[in-house]
Amino acid sequence: MSSMTALFLEDAYLSTAEAHVTGVREDGGILLDQTCFYATSGGQPGDTGFLERENGDRIQIAGTVTGETKAEIILVPAPGQAVPAVGEKLVQHIDWDRRYRLMRMHTACHLLSVVCPYPITGAAVSETDSRIDFDMTDTIDKAEITAKLMELVNANHPVHRKWISEEDLNANPELVKSKNVRPPRGQGQIRLVCIGEDSSVDSQPCGGTHVGETAEVGEIHIGKIEKKGKENRRFRIRFGPLPA
Ligand SMILES: [Zn+2]
Repeated sequence: MSSMTALFLEDAYLSTAEAHVTGVREDGGILLDQTCFYATSGGQPGDTGFLERENGDRIQIAGTVTGETKAEIILVPAPGQAVPAVGEKLVQHIDWDRRYRLMRMHTACHLLSVVCPYPITGAAVSETDSRIDFDMTDTIDKAEITAKLMELVNANHPVHRKWISEEDLNANPELVKSKNVRPPRGQGQIRLVCIGEDSSVDSQPCGGTHVGETAEVGEIHIGKIEKKGKENRRFRIRFGPLPA
């Protein structure tokens, strides 16, 4: 496996980037030396878009997944696309409208974990809504949670990242909010996503893509709170105002 630079880890706003093809798998999956395409992970779906060849032709990308390890990122072409040559230089274009909605929704999930400080048992981000499952028994009013979420959005807190060592994470186990999903280990470094000046609002390990300021999330509301078993509540976050 060749090493690939995951450009989105340092800059989530990179919608295009040059790359060289380092390999084409038997299943058609395309490997690049560096990529701005986020691969499905941590509840966030992978990017779609296209690769622009030197002659202007496009190779449509239907999805992005990880391989054997999270460090291996595979761009999955749509059916019937031309196969690029190894060594070929391309320009990558992600479907930015879709990705930006996912970044807003993903950031909203972090804000919900601040407003609802319960252990998280599952989460999934989509373009139109997100769900987070909490290990909790309390009954919570969705209008109240929506108001608290919008307070964090409107305060326009900065969202930034910080790399810490595994030892630092071991010394601060409270940073990990997810009960079932452990942050990726073994690379020596863990990426923290921090909200607020000096991480005053929140910080937690996450490899996804987020907006730079909470106001970019825009208007959101809690659409539904479902009971999933005795000790589980499923929250749905949606774009737009809370319906009357
Ligand atoms: Zn995240």
